Amino acid sequence: MKNKVLRVTAANNSIRGFFSNTTALVEKAKELHITSPVAIAALGRTLTATSIMGLMLKEDNHKITVKINGGGPLGSIVVVANSEGNVKGYVANPQVESTYIRENKLNVGEAVGTNGAITVIKDIGLKDPYVGSYPLTTGEIAEDFASYFLYSEQQPAAVALGILIDVDYTIKASGGFVVQVMPDISEEVLTKLEDKLTTIESITVLMDKGMTEEEILNHVLGDFDPKILQEYEVDFICDCHVERLEQALISIGRKELVDMIEEDGGAEMTCHFCNKKYYFDKDHLTRLLDSI
Ligand SMILES: [Zn+2]
Repeated sequence: MKNKVLRVTAANNSIRGFFSNTTALVEKAKELHITSPVAIAALGRTLTATSIMGLMLKEDNHKITVKINGGGPLGSIVVVANSEGNVKGYVANPQVESTYIRENKLNVGEAVGTNGAITVIKDIGLKDPYVGSYPLTTGEIAEDFASYFLYSEQQPAAVALGILIDVDYTIKASGGFVVQVMPDISEEVLTKLEDKLTTIESITVLMDKGMTEEEILNHVLGDFDPKILQEYEVDFICDCHVERLEQALISIGRKELVDMIEEDGGAEMTCHFCNKKYYFDKDHLTRLLDSI
C-alpha cells in the first residue's frame, strides 16, 4: 500500500489544504522503533503533520524539523521532512506504557505532556534556519500544530490527525488533514467552513468507516467546490550513511576516540531515526583518528 497526500484548493483558492493517508509509513515507523501504541500514536501524528509541512516548503532542497517536548513520559518527538513530504522521525521513549482516556481512545496528551513546546526549524537555504516555537496546548499533537500555525505563523489552520491501531497492533489506518484559509476568504465562506469543521466527525471515526483520503476531502470540503491540484507519494525514508556517523565520531574528539580504540576495541553507533546500527572496528577508528 502507498502513502498518499492530496494538495487541494477550494472556494476559488480561498481555502487550501492537504489530505493525507500515512498508514504504511506509520506501520514502518512502528516496526523500526518497536513502539507501544501510545508512542506510535504520538509519533505517527507528528510524522503525518510534518510530512504535510514538508510539502508546503517552496524549494527542493528545503527541509523542516519538528520537535515536540511536553515533559511527559514519551520524552522528545523529533521528525524531519523534506520538500517531497518524505519523513524520518523518532520518539525518545518508544516503549512508554499506554494509558487510555476511554476504551480504544489512547491518552496521547498525557504521554506527551503539556509542559513544553512545539518547535519548528525550517532550513530554507539561508545562513540561519527559521525557528518558531509555541507552548504545547494539549499534547494531543493536532491542536498543538494548529496553535503553532496560528500564533507562530499567523496562519489559521484546522488540523486533524488520527491513527487507528488494530487488535494485533498493526496500524489499521493513519492520516490527517491541514486546511488553511487565505486572507482573501469572504466572511460568508469562512463562517460556513467554521460551521462545517465543528460538525464533522473526528478523523479517526471517518477512517474507521474505511473512508479514503478523497472521501474525507469530500466530506470536509465537498460544499466548497474542492479541486485536487496534485497527488504525492510519501514515505518514511532515512538518509543516514556511514560518512555522517564518521563525522559524528570525529567531532567527539581525539581522547574519546583513543579510549574507544584502546578500551573498547571498537564502537557501535545507532541512527536515532531508523535504528540502523553501524559498527566501527579498531582499524576504522584508527583511520578516523589519523584524519583529525
Ligand atoms: Zn537512519
